[in-house]
Amino acid sequence: MKNPFHVMIVPTLGCPANCSYCWSSEEGSPVMSIETVKEIVEWLRDFKDEPVTFTFHGGEPLLAGPAFYREALPLLAEGLPHLTPDFALQTNLWRMTPEMAEVLAAYHVPIGSSIDGPKDLNDLQRGTGYFEKTMKGYETATEHGLEVRFICTFTSTSFERREEIVNFFMKNGFPLKLHPALPSLRSDEPEQWALPPEKYGDLLVYLLDKALVHLNDMEVMNINDLCRCVFTRHGSVCTFADCMGSTFAVGPDGGIYPCYRFVGMPEWVMGNVHDHPTMEDLAQSDAWKRMHAFKEFVDTACKDCRHITYCRGGCPYNAIVPTGGEVRAVDPHCVAYKRIFDEITDRMNKEMFASPPPGMGMGMPMGMGRGGRPGQPGPKTTPGVMSLIHRIVMR
Ligand code: SF4
Ligand code: SF4
Repeated sequence: MKNPFHVMIVPTLGCPANCSYCWSSEEGSPVMSIETVKEIVEWLRDFKDEPVTFTFHGGEPLLAGPAFYREALPLLAEGLPHLTPDFALQTNLWRMTPEMAEVLAAYHVPIGSSIDGPKDLNDLQRGTGYFEKTMKGYETATEHGLEVRFICTFTSTSFERREEIVNFFMKNGFPLKLHPALPSLRSDEPEQWALPPEKYGDLLVYLLDKALVHLNDMEVMNINDLCRCVFTRHGSVCTFADCMGSTFAVGPDGGIYPCYRFVGMPEWVMGNVHDHPTMEDLAQSDAWKRMHAFKEFVDTACKDCRHITYCRGGCPYNAIVPTGGEVRAVDPHCVAYKRIFDEITDRMNKEMFASPPPGMGMGMPMGMGRGGRPGQPGPKTTPGVMSLIHRIVMR
């Protein structure tokens, strides 16, 4: 199975917010010119013949302003019709104006934003005033028909308030997508906010249980992705796939990187869109070679792990950037991945061998136990992982 072709466009590394654990913004970063967008189109014309998704990322991509998107979106969509481009945008929504929303709505750009839970907790982690500004942008975006989903960054602090966070997302009808805070590469205390891998594992199992108990009232995107990985035995998100060669990012000056997380690190530049490099050209760069060394490392280091096919050692950024580019270990979140993949696999096997899952096979209705007399509901049971998987597959 091929991985989707993904190009992240980082129009600027600047950001008006000041989140405590952020590692991806730079003050005074330049903004990408429309000339560079035209060069992206030229670069991609013969680069790969596969459907592409462009994600605008940051820094804060809305700092580029509506005029940028008014030109960039048609250039990319109409300049590359053979790649049938799709779009997405990751933003804190502070600069979402009615004008911006109209430009994005014309291209049905789905929005990913960030909120870490209730206002006090969110602002503790992301700075005073963040919550209100993001929610105001959210209203503007949704009033214009844009679809918005939130990513919640869990830190060592917010982990302790996970129940409250889950309730906040459920109460507001937001699907929950989580991201573990990483050790900051730019702070004197890199571990201050980071979510330790063991706690990340606990959190994923906790969310799996929540997703099952609230099967009809809430969605945890990561749990869906993890279940899909185990069931199909294929990594369906970049963390659990070999992202090298199928994901690239373009920085404000046209520099090409392995993904948005590397943008602004000169040692990770693979080429520049102004030179229209081929895949073979990019393969000559040191950054490419380091990414592929990771892939080979995983083949050996994870060879005895039962999850290797759909885990692939996790995220190469997490694994090799903290060691200055040296491939010494897999993603430090391995502990968490193993824990949740084991949990899903074991539950799935148990349920499959024990009885047909609700809604599959014999078609037992959700929430009914086995053994009840015909016509009478059995004792209420929590749906199992196969109920969730069935739902994901049917979608
Ligand atoms: S380096 Fe990590 S975040 Fe970037 S595309 Fe690869 S898996 Fe995803
Ligand atoms: S769970 Fe850990 S050992 Fe297994 S494939 Fe993933 S990173 Fe490798």
